[in-house]
Amino acid sequence: NPPSSTSYSPVASESSLQSPTRAIKNPKVPVAAGDETKAEEEAAENLEEDEDEKILKKIKGVDLKFAKNILVESSRDQDKVFWSDIAGLEQAKETLMETVVYPFLRPDLFRGLREPVSGMLLFGPPGTGKTMLARAAATESNSTFFSIQSSSLTSKWYGESEKLVRALFQVAKAKAPSIIFVDEIDSLLGKRSGDGDDDTSRRLKNEFLVQWSDLSKAAAGRVDDDNDPPSRVLVLAATNLPWAVDEAARRRFVRRQYIPLPEPETRLAHFTKLLMNTPNSLTEEDMQQLVELTEGYSGSDITSLAKDAAIWPIRELGSKMLNLKEVEIRPLCLGDFERSMKNIRPSVNKEGLEKFEEWAREFGSSG
Ligand code: ADP
Repeated sequence: NPPSSTSYSPVASESSLQSPTRAIKNPKVPVAAGDETKAEEEAAENLEEDEDEKILKKIKGVDLKFAKNILVESSRDQDKVFWSDIAGLEQAKETLMETVVYPFLRPDLFRGLREPVSGMLLFGPPGTGKTMLARAAATESNSTFFSIQSSSLTSKWYGESEKLVRALFQVAKAKAPSIIFVDEIDSLLGKRSGDGDDDTSRRLKNEFLVQWSDLSKAAAGRVDDDNDPPSRVLVLAATNLPWAVDEAARRRFVRRQYIPLPEPETRLAHFTKLLMNTPNSLTEEDMQQLVELTEGYSGSDITSLAKDAAIWPIRELGSKMLNLKEVEIRPLCLGDFERSMKNIRPSVNKEGLEKFEEWAREFGSSG
């Protein structure tokens, strides 16, 4: 997971236009302006509080404790991901542009037949960039990002999770345009969650589906309680187990985008990006070889491999490194990667991959 994903859920990040607090964190602010900065900071905090108060007044029928909690997290997590941070995945980026970014930026153009979808599923092996894509879609569309881990709904928030879900959707509507990112959707809308004796998980699943349908009704202009404009809220869900998602729920994800393991050119782009700021001696041929050697590695395997390899020049020095200057450390070489590959292996095997491809052929959206 990206470093920004705190274990707390739901996490929301305010990724709409620059928040005032962010400007204040700018290191270029002169030190001498200390008092002024403090005053500005306080003013910005008050502004944010005022805005939160407005939001809380706007939403109805939800437990305000949860709504507040969601809003507080929303201002804390301000980590942004941009398209350019993500290696490859061009097709997924294009689909997200069409599904989220353009409709959110130009709602006037996306009405009637062009009405945007209210749900999109990203599926594929773990560590392929699904979370990054969701975060980037929020950044690039200037929307508020709400992130929720399904497992925390069924564990940490057990018993209260329905209230949390209701609050989440209402806050997202009030802060629209918003993206509600649900990771591990298979555990929330799974084939088995909802059957049998587990009343709580059935109620939670129903609540989620009800809140979600209300969004599409509002988007279609069929519900117009407060003369609100059509809601610009999208449920973006991710799963490593798409076959475990309930059929009815699956159908409601109009777009189902396969996020495969990275192709050779994507691996090359990813390694190039990772090596950008580390002195290294890798030639073009070395890079090609590295790309060939890492067939089957996911994006997150590649990041872990590069991080481990980068330690070798220092690791082999032991305590001697304490007395060396940075320029005296030898550059990273292909051999370092080869050594690290003994420990860092691809996390998805061939059979696992075939299962994804088969599901993508049957249920994935093409193009
Ligand atoms: P997923 O949600 O598919 O499990 P993530 O988006 O959480 O995967 O990615 C995990 C980590 O792997 C990221 O924080 C990043 O370091 C790395 N990563 C994965 N895919 C890519 C990619 N396409 N480009 C750059 N980094 C990636």
